[in-house]
Amino acid sequence: MSIEVKNITKLYKDQKALNNVSFKVKDAEIVGFLGPNGAGKSTMMKILTTYIKADEGSASVNNFDVDTEKKGVQTSVGYLPEHNPLYTDLYVKEYLNFNANVYGTPKSRIEEVIELTGLKPEAHKKISQLSKGYRQRVGLANALLHNPEVLILDEPTTGLDPNQLIDIRNLIKSIGKEKTVFLSTHIMQEVEAMCDRVIIINKGEVVADKYLKDLRDGQEQIVIVEFDYRIENAFLSKLPKVKSVKNTYGFVYEITFSTKEDMRSHVFDFAHDNELKILQLNQKNASLESLFQELTK
Ligand code: ADP
Repeated sequence: MSIEVKNITKLYKDQKALNNVSFKVKDAEIVGFLGPNGAGKSTMMKILTTYIKADEGSASVNNFDVDTEKKGVQTSVGYLPEHNPLYTDLYVKEYLNFNANVYGTPKSRIEEVIELTGLKPEAHKKISQLSKGYRQRVGLANALLHNPEVLILDEPTTGLDPNQLIDIRNLIKSIGKEKTVFLSTHIMQEVEAMCDRVIIINKGEVVADKYLKDLRDGQEQIVIVEFDYRIENAFLSKLPKVKSVKNTYGFVYEITFSTKEDMRSHVFDFAHDNELKILQLNQKNASLESLFQELTK
């Protein structure tokens, strides 16, 4: 088991940041730890990475206990903290070299992580000269240096622009093919875009633990489509199995279908038959959205 958390409680003075939290993460899963700000996500991650101690309960990473086998935990985990503490005066390679020395990692690994995280074109620069997206890549490269089994990423996409966001999400997904990834976020769409499973936390308590594929098996689905000009809602309602149509903004429409069948190809054919141009076409997980709203209200 990659991560095992049993009845963890953590107090800051008299405030309970975590209350009797338990969950398990299997090998090579990408699990989203989703919750509003202040829910206790960072606190949980700091416990799992041995930065702080819980008041009650136990936890292990890669079968090493966070209290009694800290060294084992630290060699098993790559951690990207929320406020990625980079030494901005250092050059990328200098920074990675410094940390490789700390971990006792062979120097050959530096080029490997640079390759792995797509840092190559910027690797000759000072960290202060990098965009936020590339700084996150440096943080990820750093977390991967000692080739850990488990990656713990605290809000890894916060503050990125839309292009950087897509790049970093893709990078995390590709890393997740080989390693266990446990990432926190307060944004539901992040979970949708990257994760196999979601654990929802609210006010220090786990309120849901679901596989995304099970949530997608609901009887409803929402398709978001953008055309190149305005279309009457009634016209779009001619699509099969439409429950409702909403024009969300501009030429973007949210179409709810009363079926779990993927309706994107129907929308595409409909556009083609009616000589409409599609600018974007996505599915939204209606169940995750309503679950999150209901549980974290
Ligand atoms: P999240 O990462 O989900 O935003 P945190 O784990 O950072 O949540 O915080 C959980 C709760 O614990 C919040 O109410 C926060 O204010 C509080 N908290 C976090 N760190 C400390 C600390 N060092 N001292 C006191 N309270 C803290």
